[in-house]
Amino acid sequence: MSDFLPTGIQLTYLVAASLFILGLKKLGSPATARNGNVIAAVGMLLAIAATLLNQQVLNYQMILLGLAIGSAIGAVAAYTVQMTQMPQMVGLLNGLGGSASALVAVAEFWRLLETSQPIGLDVNISMLLDVFIGGITFTGSTVAFAKLQGILKGTPITYPLQQPFNILLLVAYIVGSGFLIVDPYNLPVFLGVVGVSLLLGVLFVIPIGGGDMPVVISLLNSLSGLAAAAAGFVVMNNMLIIAGALVGASGLILTQIMCKAMNRSLFSVLFSAFGTDGGGGAGATGGATDQVVRSIDPEEGAMMLGYARSVVIVPGYGMAVAQAQHGVRELADQLERMGVDVKYAIHPVAGRMPGHMNVLLAEANVPYEQLYDMEDVNPQFEQTDVALIIGANDVVNPAARSDKNSPIYGMPILEVDRAKQTIVIKRGMSKGFAGVDNSLFYKDKTSMLFGSAKDMVGKLVSEVKQL
Ligand code: NDP
Repeated sequence: MSDFLPTGIQLTYLVAASLFILGLKKLGSPATARNGNVIAAVGMLLAIAATLLNQQVLNYQMILLGLAIGSAIGAVAAYTVQMTQMPQMVGLLNGLGGSASALVAVAEFWRLLETSQPIGLDVNISMLLDVFIGGITFTGSTVAFAKLQGILKGTPITYPLQQPFNILLLVAYIVGSGFLIVDPYNLPVFLGVVGVSLLLGVLFVIPIGGGDMPVVISLLNSLSGLAAAAAGFVVMNNMLIIAGALVGASGLILTQIMCKAMNRSLFSVLFSAFGTDGGGGAGATGGATDQVVRSIDPEEGAMMLGYARSVVIVPGYGMAVAQAQHGVRELADQLERMGVDVKYAIHPVAGRMPGHMNVLLAEANVPYEQLYDMEDVNPQFEQTDVALIIGANDVVNPAARSDKNSPIYGMPILEVDRAKQTIVIKRGMSKGFAGVDNSLFYKDKTSMLFGSAKDMVGKLVSEVKQL
């Protein structure tokens, strides 16, 4: 019986790990993603149940208390956080994952210190890595949250000797860790290592520009997984190691996809303060220019769309803010009924979190076959009658292609300016998240439809119906 329980737990972990892998595989396609989520959640339930049966668990009351408090906060957050605040929420959850893992190392250090038990080299190194990765993830994600929430400016925060100072901190961490390997019970040095890790997280994210935030968020997601894996080595829990490694690896793949989307190497994202000259950043009002824009009303917009042969819809962050996806679907359906060929063009970094547009359009039941990646849709813009931009800005900014001095130069964009006509729906002349002016709005072929996306799309639907 005494051997049966641990073996049963390990076997349950194996089943849970298989469910995680299956779930991840299904997350690879929008058609199977919902099922994938459920399968992975069942795996997590099994893993938690098995862990609670572990004989090493000493205090069920504390676990229940934690579960009750955590569930209450989670439930309130789930009901009150708006869909538009999901990116910040995801950033915050990454940070909480990192801090939970780092706290495992801190608690283990404390336990070993109090009991004066010998610390094995493997556990010692795992603790130091856990504190480092978890600490950076926690504070880095908190800064990312503040940038997404608009509490901090989206543009890079830089100061003299920034990189040398970061390197100095890194060296301090390495020296402190070396010290702790020789003298594992040194509390002041341990606290110093924790402090340096937390500070490095802040300093690592503040110089990263608005446009590069998708890369940082995916990297922090990956780090939260690696921190969990390190925590798994600290407490010797196979499930934590496997789950952490899966999150770490999938986060790294996502980071690579985001780097490709921005046409930038991870090194340049992390160390070159991209977008320094970008201007106002998140929430900037911008638009101080004497160039003229052509403004139209919904009736004109409906005529352009209704009499077109092909329309490509480009959703962006503004569609998410306005929650206009259902209206957009209705407009597309109506246009299709009138014989217009409708496609959606999805930029990988549109919105504020990876896959943001796909999630919203899936929620509105937009057929997957109408969604086109940037590489597939860009060659088609020249034959497109109308490109309809709904609350997108940075991802359609031609400066990325033509203006060598622009901080977003080199980032691949959706080339809507090559379409025969372009309609842009946005409320005013504000800049996008990267804080860069957009010359698209001033082009002869561009018509601005000023107003909130939901409102304007609704008006377009009723005008198109009257054609
Ligand atoms: P942008 O942030 O560039 O632009 C969004 C535009 O939407 C604004 O210019 C705003 O103009 C408009 N808008 C806001 N609210 C509304 C509304 N209610 N109705 C209509 N329009 C509205 O969005 P993009 O999607 O083009 O680009 C995403 C940016 O965010 C990129 O720079 C990307 O790097 C960054 N980012 C992306 C992340 C990701 O993972 N996808 C994560 C973090 C950052 P106005 O106020 O005039 O209406």
